[in-house]
Amino acid sequence: MDKYKSNRIQLFNSLKGEKEEFIPINAPHIGMYVCGPTVYSNAHLGNARTFVSFDVVYRYLLFLGYKVRYVRNITDVGHLVDDADEGEDKLAKTAKIEQLEPMEVAQKYTVEFRKVMQMLNALPPSIEPTATGHIIEQIEMVQSILDNGLAYEMNGSVYFDVLKYNEKLNYGELSGRNIEELYEGTRTLDAQDEKKNAVDFAIWKKAAPEHIMRWNSPWGEGFPGWHLECSAMGTKYLGKKFDIHGGGMDLKFPHHECEIAQGNAANGESPVNYWLHTNMLTLNGQRMSKSTGNTLLPLELFYGASDKIDKAYAPMVVRFFMLQAHYRSTLDFSGAALQAAEKGYKKLMAALRLLNGIAYQETEFSERDDLEIVKLLDSCYEFMNDDFNTPRTIAALFEIVAKVNGICKNNALVGLSKKTFGRLQEDFNGLVTQVLGLSDQQKDNQDQLDGTIGMLIDLRTEAKNEKNWSMSDAIRDQLKEIGIQLKDGKEGTSYSIE
Ligand code: AMP
Ligand code: ZN
Repeated sequence: MDKYKSNRIQLFNSLKGEKEEFIPINAPHIGMYVCGPTVYSNAHLGNARTFVSFDVVYRYLLFLGYKVRYVRNITDVGHLVDDADEGEDKLAKTAKIEQLEPMEVAQKYTVEFRKVMQMLNALPPSIEPTATGHIIEQIEMVQSILDNGLAYEMNGSVYFDVLKYNEKLNYGELSGRNIEELYEGTRTLDAQDEKKNAVDFAIWKKAAPEHIMRWNSPWGEGFPGWHLECSAMGTKYLGKKFDIHGGGMDLKFPHHECEIAQGNAANGESPVNYWLHTNMLTLNGQRMSKSTGNTLLPLELFYGASDKIDKAYAPMVVRFFMLQAHYRSTLDFSGAALQAAEKGYKKLMAALRLLNGIAYQETEFSERDDLEIVKLLDSCYEFMNDDFNTPRTIAALFEIVAKVNGICKNNALVGLSKKTFGRLQEDFNGLVTQVLGLSDQQKDNQDQLDGTIGMLIDLRTEAKNEKNWSMSDAIRDQLKEIGIQLKDGKEGTSYSIE
Protein backbone atom coordinates (compact mmCIF):
# COMPACT_ATOMS: atom_id res chain seq x y z
CA MET A 1 0.00 0.00 0.00
CA ASP A 2 2.57 2.54 1.04
CA LYS A 3 4.93 2.06 -1.85
CA TYR A 4 5.46 5.83 -1.69
CA LYS A 5 7.86 5.38 1.20
CA SER A 6 10.36 3.55 -0.95
CA ASN A 7 9.83 5.51 -4.18
CA ARG A 8 11.30 8.97 -4.27
CA ILE A 9 9.93 10.97 -7.14
CA GLN A 10 11.98 13.52 -9.00
CA LEU A 11 9.86 15.95 -10.90
CA PHE A 12 10.64 18.79 -13.21
CA ASN A 13 9.49 21.93 -11.47
CA SER A 14 8.94 24.72 -14.01
CA LEU A 15 9.36 27.25 -11.22
CA LYS A 16 12.97 26.16 -10.71
CA GLY A 17 13.64 25.04 -14.26
CA GLU A 18 15.04 21.74 -13.02
CA LYS A 19 14.19 18.40 -11.56
CA GLU A 20 13.88 18.19 -7.82
CA GLU A 21 12.75 15.69 -5.26
CA PHE A 22 9.03 15.74 -4.62
CA ILE A 23 8.33 16.28 -0.95
CA PRO A 24 4.61 16.61 -0.20
CA ILE A 25 3.53 19.18 2.37
CA ASN A 26 1.52 16.65 4.33
CA ALA A 27 2.23 13.10 3.12
CA PRO A 28 0.47 10.83 2.40
CA HIS A 29 -1.96 13.57 1.40
CA ILE A 30 -1.31 15.39 -1.84
CA GLY A 31 -3.14 18.37 -3.30
CA MET A 32 -3.03 18.64 -7.07
CA TYR A 33 -4.72 21.24 -9.28
CA VAL A 34 -4.88 21.08 -13.07
CA CYS A 35 -6.40 23.80 -15.24
CA GLY A 36 -9.37 22.21 -16.94
CA PRO A 37 -10.97 22.85 -20.31
CA THR A 38 -12.69 26.00 -21.46
CA VAL A 39 -16.00 24.51 -22.48
CA TYR A 40 -16.92 26.62 -25.50
CA SER A 41 -16.16 23.92 -28.08
CA ASN A 42 -15.01 20.30 -28.26
CA ALA A 43 -11.74 19.48 -26.53
CA HIS A 44 -9.23 18.55 -29.23
CA LEU A 45 -6.59 15.86 -29.17
CA GLY A 46 -3.98 18.31 -27.83
CA ASN A 47 -6.16 19.20 -24.86
CA ALA A 48 -6.76 15.48 -24.33
CA ARG A 49 -3.02 14.83 -24.32
CA THR A 50 -2.51 17.27 -21.47
CA PHE A 51 -5.30 15.70 -19.43
CA VAL A 52 -4.09 12.16 -20.12
CA SER A 53 -0.59 13.20 -18.99
CA PHE A 54 -1.95 14.44 -15.67
CA ASP A 55 -4.13 11.36 -15.39
CA VAL A 56 -0.94 9.30 -15.36
CA VAL A 57 0.57 11.57 -12.69
CA TYR A 58 -2.60 11.14 -10.62
CA ARG A 59 -2.70 7.39 -11.20
CA TYR A 60 0.95 6.89 -10.29
CA LEU A 61 0.61 8.88 -7.06
CA LEU A 62 -2.45 6.81 -6.14
CA PHE A 63 -0.64 3.61 -7.08
CA LEU A 64 2.17 4.48 -4.70
CA GLY A 65 -0.40 4.82 -1.93
CA TYR A 66 -0.70 8.59 -1.70
CA LYS A 67 -4.09 10.05 -0.91
CA VAL A 68 -4.57 12.58 -3.65
CA ARG A 69 -7.14 15.33 -3.88
CA TYR A 70 -7.17 16.11 -7.55
CA VAL A 71 -9.01 19.28 -8.55
CA ARG A 72 -9.58 20.04 -12.22
CA ASN A 73 -11.84 22.96 -12.97
CA ILE A 74 -14.26 23.67 -15.78
CA THR A 75 -13.77 27.16 -17.21
CA ASP A 76 -17.22 28.42 -18.06
CA VAL A 77 -16.72 32.17 -17.70
CA GLY A 78 -13.99 34.78 -17.87
CA HIS A 79 -11.79 33.29 -20.61
CA LEU A 80 -11.87 36.00 -23.25
CA VAL A 81 -11.10 35.54 -26.91
CA ASP A 82 -7.32 35.87 -27.51
CA ASP A 83 -6.69 35.18 -23.80
CA ALA A 84 -6.59 38.96 -23.34
CA ASP A 85 -8.28 41.41 -20.97
CA GLU A 86 -10.54 42.70 -23.71
CA GLY A 87 -13.00 41.20 -26.11
CA GLU A 88 -15.79 38.71 -25.99
CA ASP A 89 -16.08 35.85 -23.55
CA LYS A 90 -15.35 32.61 -25.46
CA LEU A 91 -18.51 30.98 -24.13
CA ALA A 92 -20.74 33.96 -24.80
CA LYS A 93 -19.43 34.10 -28.36
CA THR A 94 -20.36 30.46 -29.03
CA ALA A 95 -23.71 30.99 -27.30
CA LYS A 96 -24.52 33.77 -29.71
CA ILE A 97 -23.49 31.74 -32.76
CA GLU A 98 -25.32 28.59 -31.66
CA GLN A 99 -28.26 30.56 -30.22
CA LEU A 100 -27.96 28.95 -26.84
CA GLU A 101 -27.71 30.13 -23.26
CA PRO A 102 -24.03 30.29 -22.22
CA MET A 103 -24.79 27.60 -19.63
CA GLU A 104 -26.22 25.35 -22.36
CA VAL A 105 -22.94 25.73 -24.21
CA ALA A 106 -21.01 24.88 -21.05
CA GLN A 107 -23.18 21.84 -20.37
CA LYS A 108 -22.98 20.55 -23.93
CA TYR A 109 -19.19 20.64 -24.08
CA THR A 110 -18.68 19.52 -20.49
CA VAL A 111 -20.72 16.38 -21.15
CA GLU A 112 -18.79 15.74 -24.35
CA PHE A 113 -15.46 16.34 -22.61
CA ARG A 114 -16.28 13.88 -19.81
CA LYS A 115 -17.36 11.27 -22.34
CA VAL A 116 -14.07 11.56 -24.23
CA MET A 117 -11.99 11.45 -21.05
CA GLN A 118 -13.87 8.36 -19.90
CA MET A 119 -13.27 6.67 -23.25
CA LEU A 120 -9.58 7.48 -22.84
CA ASN A 121 -9.81 5.79 -19.43
CA ALA A 122 -8.86 8.94 -17.52
CA LEU A 123 -10.03 8.82 -13.91
CA PRO A 124 -12.44 11.59 -12.96
CA PRO A 125 -10.85 14.18 -10.68
CA SER A 126 -11.85 14.29 -7.01
CA ILE A 127 -13.49 17.69 -7.51
CA GLU A 128 -14.47 19.33 -10.79
CA PRO A 129 -15.52 22.86 -9.83
CA THR A 130 -16.87 25.44 -12.26
CA ALA A 131 -15.85 29.08 -12.40
CA THR A 132 -19.49 30.25 -12.44
CA GLY A 133 -20.13 28.21 -9.28
CA HIS A 134 -17.43 30.16 -7.44
CA ILE A 135 -18.19 33.80 -8.15
CA ILE A 136 -18.47 34.64 -4.44
CA GLU A 137 -15.05 33.14 -3.70
CA GLN A 138 -13.60 35.12 -6.60
CA ILE A 139 -15.14 38.38 -5.42
CA GLU A 140 -13.71 37.71 -1.95
CA MET A 141 -10.28 37.14 -3.41
CA VAL A 142 -10.42 40.38 -5.42
CA GLN A 143 -11.37 42.14 -2.19
CA SER A 144 -8.40 40.62 -0.32
CA ILE A 145 -6.01 41.75 -3.05
CA LEU A 146 -7.51 45.25 -2.92
CA ASP A 147 -7.28 45.25 0.90
CA ASN A 148 -3.63 44.30 0.65
CA GLY A 149 -2.99 47.26 -1.62
CA LEU A 150 -2.01 45.23 -4.67
CA ALA A 151 -4.94 46.08 -6.91
CA TYR A 152 -6.93 49.18 -7.79
CA GLU A 153 -10.43 49.88 -9.01
CA MET A 154 -10.98 51.83 -12.18
CA ASN A 155 -14.40 52.50 -13.74
CA GLY A 156 -15.95 49.36 -12.26
CA SER A 157 -13.04 47.06 -13.15
CA VAL A 158 -10.30 45.93 -10.79
CA TYR A 159 -6.73 45.56 -12.01
CA PHE A 160 -3.78 43.84 -10.43
CA ASP A 161 -0.98 46.32 -9.79
CA VAL A 162 1.98 44.48 -11.26
CA LEU A 163 4.57 47.22 -10.62
CA LYS A 164 3.57 47.55 -6.96
CA TYR A 165 3.75 43.76 -6.61
CA ASN A 166 7.14 43.77 -8.24
CA GLU A 167 8.57 46.11 -5.60
CA LYS A 168 8.76 43.17 -3.21
CA LEU A 169 8.10 40.09 -5.30
CA ASN A 170 8.95 38.91 -8.75
CA TYR A 171 6.25 38.96 -11.41
CA GLY A 172 7.79 36.78 -14.10
CA GLU A 173 9.43 34.21 -11.85
CA LEU A 174 7.67 31.29 -13.55
CA SER A 175 7.89 32.35 -17.18
CA GLY A 176 11.31 33.97 -16.82
CA ARG A 177 10.10 37.26 -18.32
CA ASN A 178 11.07 40.64 -16.97
CA ILE A 179 8.95 43.75 -16.89
CA GLU A 180 10.65 45.38 -19.89
CA GLU A 181 9.91 42.37 -22.05
CA LEU A 182 6.36 42.37 -20.79
CA TYR A 183 5.86 45.98 -21.82
CA GLU A 184 7.05 45.09 -25.30
CA GLY A 185 4.59 42.20 -25.43
CA THR A 186 1.49 44.19 -24.53
CA ARG A 187 -0.79 45.38 -27.24
CA THR A 188 -2.54 48.71 -27.30
CA LEU A 189 -6.13 47.98 -26.49
CA ASP A 190 -8.88 50.28 -25.30
CA ALA A 191 -8.95 49.24 -21.67
CA GLN A 192 -5.25 49.79 -21.32
CA ASP A 193 -6.08 53.47 -21.07
CA GLU A 194 -7.70 52.82 -17.75
CA LYS A 195 -4.90 50.59 -16.49
CA LYS A 196 -2.15 52.36 -14.56
CA ASN A 197 0.34 50.27 -16.45
CA ALA A 198 0.00 48.22 -19.60
CA VAL A 199 1.36 45.15 -17.79
CA ASP A 200 -1.44 45.17 -15.19
CA PHE A 201 -4.10 42.53 -15.64
CA ALA A 202 -7.82 42.43 -14.87
CA ILE A 203 -9.03 40.46 -11.88
CA TRP A 204 -12.58 41.80 -12.19
CA LYS A 205 -14.07 43.34 -15.33
CA LYS A 206 -16.98 45.70 -15.60
CA ALA A 207 -19.56 44.16 -17.94
CA ALA A 208 -20.37 46.20 -21.02
CA PRO A 209 -24.13 46.44 -21.71
CA GLU A 210 -23.99 43.70 -24.35
CA HIS A 211 -22.06 41.31 -22.11
CA ILE A 212 -24.47 38.57 -21.05
CA MET A 213 -22.49 36.82 -18.32
CA ARG A 214 -22.55 39.24 -15.38
CA TRP A 215 -22.81 39.27 -11.61
CA ASN A 216 -23.26 41.89 -8.91
CA SER A 217 -20.15 42.87 -7.05
CA PRO A 218 -18.96 45.69 -4.78
CA TRP A 219 -17.65 47.33 -7.98
CA GLY A 220 -20.86 47.06 -9.99
CA GLU A 221 -21.99 44.40 -12.45
CA GLY A 222 -19.18 42.47 -13.99
CA PHE A 223 -17.37 39.15 -14.29
CA PRO A 224 -14.12 37.66 -12.96
CA GLY A 225 -10.81 37.77 -14.81
CA TRP A 226 -9.79 34.43 -16.28
CA HIS A 227 -6.78 33.85 -14.02
CA LEU A 228 -8.73 34.41 -10.85
CA GLU A 229 -10.94 31.34 -10.99
CA CYS A 230 -8.06 28.91 -10.58
CA SER A 231 -6.60 30.90 -7.68
CA ALA A 232 -9.97 31.03 -5.92
CA MET A 233 -10.88 27.37 -6.46
CA GLY A 234 -7.36 26.13 -5.72
CA THR A 235 -7.36 28.02 -2.43
CA LYS A 236 -10.85 26.83 -1.53
CA TYR A 237 -10.25 23.12 -2.07
CA LEU A 238 -6.52 22.70 -1.56
CA GLY A 239 -5.52 25.56 0.74
CA LYS A 240 -3.33 28.62 0.43
CA LYS A 241 -0.37 26.44 -0.46
CA PHE A 242 -0.58 23.07 -2.11
CA ASP A 243 1.71 20.54 -3.75
CA ILE A 244 1.24 20.32 -7.51
CA HIS A 245 -0.25 22.58 -10.15
CA GLY A 246 -0.39 21.50 -13.76
CA GLY A 247 -1.41 22.67 -17.19
CA GLY A 248 -0.11 22.96 -20.73
CA MET A 249 3.05 24.97 -21.38
CA ASP A 250 1.05 27.65 -23.14
CA LEU A 251 -0.58 28.47 -19.80
CA LYS A 252 2.72 29.39 -18.09
CA PHE A 253 2.24 32.96 -19.18
CA PRO A 254 0.12 34.84 -18.44
CA HIS A 255 -2.28 32.42 -16.72
CA HIS A 256 -0.01 30.70 -14.21
CA GLU A 257 2.25 33.70 -13.68
CA CYS A 258 -0.89 35.62 -12.67
CA GLU A 259 -2.04 32.79 -10.42
CA ILE A 260 1.22 32.98 -8.50
CA ALA A 261 0.89 36.76 -8.17
CA GLN A 262 -2.75 36.50 -7.03
CA GLY A 263 -1.91 33.82 -4.45
CA ASN A 264 0.91 35.92 -3.02
CA ALA A 265 -1.19 39.07 -3.06
CA ALA A 266 -4.31 37.57 -1.48
CA ASN A 267 -2.90 34.91 0.84
CA GLY A 268 0.60 36.15 1.57
CA GLU A 269 2.33 33.07 0.18
CA SER A 270 3.24 31.47 -3.11
CA PRO A 271 0.37 29.09 -3.84
CA VAL A 272 2.17 26.05 -5.26
CA ASN A 273 5.34 24.11 -4.55
CA TYR A 274 5.68 22.24 -7.86
CA TRP A 275 4.54 23.57 -11.22
CA LEU A 276 4.27 20.94 -13.97
CA HIS A 277 3.80 21.80 -17.62
CA THR A 278 3.02 19.51 -20.51
CA ASN A 279 4.35 20.08 -23.99
CA MET A 280 2.20 20.49 -27.05
CA LEU A 281 0.69 17.98 -29.41
CA THR A 282 1.38 19.09 -32.95
CA LEU A 283 -0.31 18.37 -36.24
CA ASN A 284 1.77 18.87 -39.38
CA GLY A 285 4.45 20.35 -37.15
CA GLN A 286 2.12 23.10 -35.88
CA ARG A 287 0.65 23.27 -32.42
CA MET A 288 -2.87 21.86 -32.36
CA SER A 289 -5.05 24.80 -31.50
CA LYS A 290 -8.71 25.73 -31.60
CA SER A 291 -8.00 29.28 -32.65
CA THR A 292 -6.09 28.30 -35.82
CA GLY A 293 -8.41 25.44 -36.68
CA ASN A 294 -5.45 23.04 -36.83
CA THR A 295 -7.30 20.40 -34.85
CA LEU A 296 -8.35 16.80 -34.72
CA LEU A 297 -10.98 15.64 -32.27
CA PRO A 298 -10.65 12.47 -30.21
CA LEU A 299 -14.08 11.24 -31.36
CA GLU A 300 -13.06 11.72 -35.00
CA LEU A 301 -10.18 9.36 -34.32
CA PHE A 302 -12.26 6.81 -32.42
CA TYR A 303 -14.88 6.69 -35.21
CA GLY A 304 -12.47 7.07 -38.13
CA ALA A 305 -14.26 10.24 -39.17
CA SER A 306 -11.40 12.34 -40.47
CA ASP A 307 -9.44 12.45 -43.70
CA LYS A 308 -6.26 12.80 -41.63
CA ILE A 309 -6.45 9.08 -40.77
CA ASP A 310 -6.94 5.91 -42.77
CA LYS A 311 -9.23 4.17 -40.28
CA ALA A 312 -10.68 4.32 -36.79
CA TYR A 313 -8.36 3.92 -33.80
CA ALA A 314 -9.54 2.61 -30.46
CA PRO A 315 -9.27 5.05 -27.54
CA MET A 316 -6.71 2.80 -25.85
CA VAL A 317 -4.48 2.93 -28.93
CA VAL A 318 -4.70 6.72 -28.84
CA ARG A 319 -3.83 6.72 -25.14
CA PHE A 320 -0.87 4.41 -25.79
CA PHE A 321 0.28 6.73 -28.60
CA MET A 322 0.27 9.65 -26.17
CA LEU A 323 2.18 7.79 -23.47
CA GLN A 324 4.94 6.81 -25.88
CA ALA A 325 6.25 10.37 -25.61
CA HIS A 326 7.38 12.04 -22.42
CA TYR A 327 4.93 14.69 -21.28
CA ARG A 328 7.58 17.43 -21.59
CA SER A 329 8.37 16.56 -25.22
CA THR A 330 6.30 17.64 -28.16
CA LEU A 331 4.38 14.87 -29.84
CA ASP A 332 3.52 15.03 -33.51
CA PHE A 333 0.38 13.37 -34.68
CA SER A 334 0.48 11.19 -37.77
CA GLY A 335 -1.38 8.20 -39.13
CA ALA A 336 1.88 6.21 -39.24
CA ALA A 337 2.56 6.92 -35.57
CA LEU A 338 -0.91 5.69 -34.70
CA GLN A 339 -0.45 2.52 -36.69
CA ALA A 340 2.78 1.82 -34.81
CA ALA A 341 1.00 2.55 -31.54
CA GLU A 342 -1.72 0.07 -32.43
CA LYS A 343 0.87 -2.65 -32.92
CA GLY A 344 2.58 -1.83 -29.65
CA TYR A 345 -0.66 -1.70 -27.71
CA LYS A 346 -1.78 -5.08 -29.07
CA LYS A 347 1.55 -6.66 -28.19
CA LEU A 348 1.36 -5.34 -24.64
CA MET A 349 -2.21 -6.58 -24.21
CA ALA A 350 -1.32 -10.02 -25.59
CA ALA A 351 1.41 -10.24 -22.94
CA LEU A 352 -1.04 -9.14 -20.26
CA ARG A 353 -3.53 -11.83 -21.30
CA LEU A 354 -0.77 -14.44 -21.41
CA LEU A 355 0.50 -13.53 -17.95
CA ASN A 356 -2.95 -13.52 -16.42
CA GLY A 357 -3.81 -16.86 -17.99
CA ILE A 358 -0.67 -18.63 -16.83
CA ALA A 359 -0.79 -20.74 -13.72
CA TYR A 360 2.36 -21.12 -11.70
CA GLN A 361 3.99 -24.50 -12.07
CA GLU A 362 6.74 -25.70 -9.88
CA THR A 363 9.82 -25.91 -12.08
CA GLU A 364 13.46 -25.82 -11.43
CA PHE A 365 14.20 -22.16 -11.68
CA SER A 366 17.24 -20.27 -12.71
CA GLU A 367 18.30 -17.33 -10.62
CA ARG A 368 19.46 -15.54 -13.72
CA ASP A 369 15.93 -15.18 -15.11
CA ASP A 370 14.65 -14.13 -11.73
CA LEU A 371 17.26 -11.46 -11.43
CA GLU A 372 16.69 -10.07 -14.90
CA ILE A 373 12.94 -9.84 -14.51
CA VAL A 374 13.13 -8.28 -11.06
CA LYS A 375 15.64 -5.76 -12.37
CA LEU A 376 13.38 -4.84 -15.27
CA LEU A 377 10.37 -4.45 -12.98
CA ASP A 378 12.38 -2.27 -10.63
CA SER A 379 13.47 -0.16 -13.57
CA CYS A 380 9.83 0.58 -14.43
CA TYR A 381 9.45 2.23 -11.04
CA GLU A 382 12.73 4.09 -11.47
CA PHE A 383 11.52 5.49 -14.79
CA MET A 384 8.17 6.52 -13.38
CA ASN A 385 9.95 8.10 -10.41
CA ASP A 386 12.06 10.05 -12.87
CA ASP A 387 9.51 12.74 -13.74
CA PHE A 388 6.91 10.19 -14.88
CA ASN A 389 8.91 8.90 -17.80
CA THR A 390 6.27 6.80 -19.54
CA PRO A 391 8.22 6.08 -22.77
CA ARG A 392 11.09 4.50 -20.86
CA THR A 393 8.65 2.61 -18.67
CA ILE A 394 6.92 1.25 -21.76
CA ALA A 395 10.28 0.25 -23.24
CA ALA A 396 11.12 -1.68 -20.07
CA LEU A 397 7.70 -3.35 -20.15
CA PHE A 398 8.46 -4.53 -23.69
CA GLU A 399 11.74 -6.00 -22.54
CA ILE A 400 9.76 -7.89 -19.93
CA VAL A 401 7.34 -9.06 -22.62
CA ALA A 402 10.26 -10.42 -24.67
CA LYS A 403 11.61 -12.19 -21.59
CA VAL A 404 8.22 -13.69 -20.76
CA ASN A 405 7.70 -14.90 -24.33
CA GLY A 406 11.17 -16.43 -24.24
CA ILE A 407 10.58 -18.53 -21.15
CA CYS A 408 6.92 -19.41 -21.72
CA LYS A 409 6.50 -23.06 -22.61
CA ASN A 410 3.20 -24.98 -22.51
CA ASN A 411 1.48 -22.19 -20.67
CA ALA A 412 4.06 -22.07 -17.92
CA LEU A 413 6.96 -19.77 -17.27
CA VAL A 414 9.89 -22.10 -17.15
CA GLY A 415 12.56 -21.31 -14.67
CA LEU A 416 11.06 -18.69 -12.45
CA SER A 417 10.69 -18.73 -8.68
CA LYS A 418 7.20 -18.46 -7.26
CA LYS A 419 8.13 -15.13 -5.68
CA THR A 420 9.27 -13.58 -8.94
CA PHE A 421 6.27 -15.02 -10.74
CA GLY A 422 3.97 -13.34 -8.22
CA ARG A 423 5.76 -10.01 -8.53
CA LEU A 424 5.69 -10.24 -12.29
CA GLN A 425 1.95 -10.77 -12.38
CA GLU A 426 1.22 -8.10 -9.81
CA ASP A 427 3.58 -5.40 -11.02
CA PHE A 428 3.06 -5.92 -14.73
CA ASN A 429 -0.72 -5.73 -14.29
CA GLY A 430 -0.42 -2.79 -11.94
CA LEU A 431 1.90 -0.79 -14.15
CA VAL A 432 -0.02 -1.41 -17.35
CA THR A 433 -3.59 -1.10 -16.14
CA GLN A 434 -3.45 1.07 -13.02
CA VAL A 435 -0.52 3.38 -13.75
CA LEU A 436 -0.58 3.72 -17.53
CA GLY A 437 -4.34 3.24 -17.47
CA LEU A 438 -4.35 0.90 -20.48
CA SER A 439 -7.26 -1.48 -20.36
CA ASP A 440 -7.56 -4.56 -22.52
CA GLN A 441 -10.23 -3.50 -24.96
CA GLN A 442 -10.50 -6.96 -26.52
CA LYS A 443 -11.15 -8.48 -23.12
CA ASP A 444 -13.52 -5.67 -22.16
CA ASN A 445 -15.52 -6.24 -25.34
CA GLN A 446 -15.68 -9.97 -24.63
CA ASP A 447 -16.88 -9.32 -21.07
CA GLN A 448 -19.58 -7.00 -22.39
CA LEU A 449 -20.70 -9.56 -24.97
CA ASP A 450 -20.80 -12.33 -22.34
CA GLY A 451 -22.83 -10.07 -20.06
CA THR A 452 -25.33 -9.08 -22.76
CA ILE A 453 -25.92 -12.59 -24.05
CA GLY A 454 -26.07 -13.87 -20.47
CA MET A 455 -28.88 -11.42 -19.84
CA LEU A 456 -30.78 -12.62 -22.93
CA ILE A 457 -30.32 -16.25 -21.86
CA ASP A 458 -31.80 -15.38 -18.45
CA LEU A 459 -34.76 -13.65 -20.10
CA ARG A 460 -35.31 -16.69 -22.30
CA THR A 461 -35.18 -19.04 -19.30
CA GLU A 462 -37.73 -16.85 -17.54
CA ALA A 463 -39.97 -16.88 -20.63
CA LYS A 464 -39.70 -20.69 -20.77
CA ASN A 465 -40.61 -21.00 -17.09
CA GLU A 466 -43.66 -18.92 -17.78
CA LYS A 467 -44.42 -21.09 -20.84
CA ASN A 468 -44.09 -18.00 -23.01
CA TRP A 469 -42.80 -20.04 -25.95
CA SER A 470 -43.15 -17.30 -28.54
CA MET A 471 -40.83 -15.07 -26.51
CA SER A 472 -38.25 -17.79 -25.79
CA ASP A 473 -38.21 -18.83 -29.46
CA ALA A 474 -37.95 -15.24 -30.62
CA ILE A 475 -34.84 -14.68 -28.45
CA ARG A 476 -33.21 -17.85 -29.77
CA ASP A 477 -34.12 -17.21 -33.42
CA GLN A 478 -33.18 -13.57 -33.49
CA LEU A 479 -29.81 -14.32 -31.91
CA LYS A 480 -29.29 -17.01 -34.56
CA GLU A 481 -30.05 -14.48 -37.27
CA ILE A 482 -27.09 -12.41 -36.15
CA GLY A 483 -24.85 -15.45 -35.92
CA ILE A 484 -25.14 -16.33 -32.24
CA GLN A 485 -26.16 -19.90 -31.54
CA LEU A 486 -27.62 -20.84 -28.15
CA LYS A 487 -26.97 -24.38 -26.91
CA ASP A 488 -29.06 -25.90 -24.13
CA GLY A 489 -27.18 -28.41 -22.00
CA LYS A 490 -27.28 -30.03 -18.59
CA GLU A 491 -25.22 -27.22 -17.10
CA GLY A 492 -27.50 -24.56 -18.53
CA THR A 493 -27.39 -22.60 -21.76
CA SER A 494 -24.17 -21.55 -23.45
CA TYR A 495 -23.52 -19.75 -26.71
CA SER A 496 -21.20 -19.90 -29.69
CA ILE A 497 -20.55 -17.47 -32.50
CA GLU A 498 -20.91 -18.92 -36.00
P1 AMP B 1 -8.26 25.19 -23.00
O1 AMP B 1 -9.53 24.38 -23.12
O2 AMP B 1 -7.94 25.97 -24.23
O3 AMP B 1 -8.32 26.08 -21.76
O4 AMP B 1 -7.06 24.18 -22.80
C1 AMP B 1 -7.09 23.08 -21.93
C2 AMP B 1 -5.69 22.53 -21.72
O5 AMP B 1 -5.16 21.99 -22.92
C3 AMP B 1 -4.67 23.56 -21.23
O6 AMP B 1 -3.89 22.99 -20.19
C4 AMP B 1 -3.82 23.82 -22.46
O7 AMP B 1 -2.52 24.21 -22.12
C5 AMP B 1 -3.83 22.46 -23.11
N1 AMP B 1 -3.52 22.48 -24.55
C6 AMP B 1 -3.99 23.33 -25.49
N2 AMP B 1 -3.48 23.03 -26.71
C7 AMP B 1 -2.67 21.95 -26.55
C8 AMP B 1 -1.86 21.15 -27.43
N3 AMP B 1 -1.79 21.39 -28.74
N4 AMP B 1 -1.16 20.12 -26.89
C9 AMP B 1 -1.23 19.85 -25.56
N5 AMP B 1 -1.98 20.55 -24.69
C10 AMP B 1 -2.69 21.60 -25.16
ZN1 ZN C 1 -6.16 27.74 -14.65
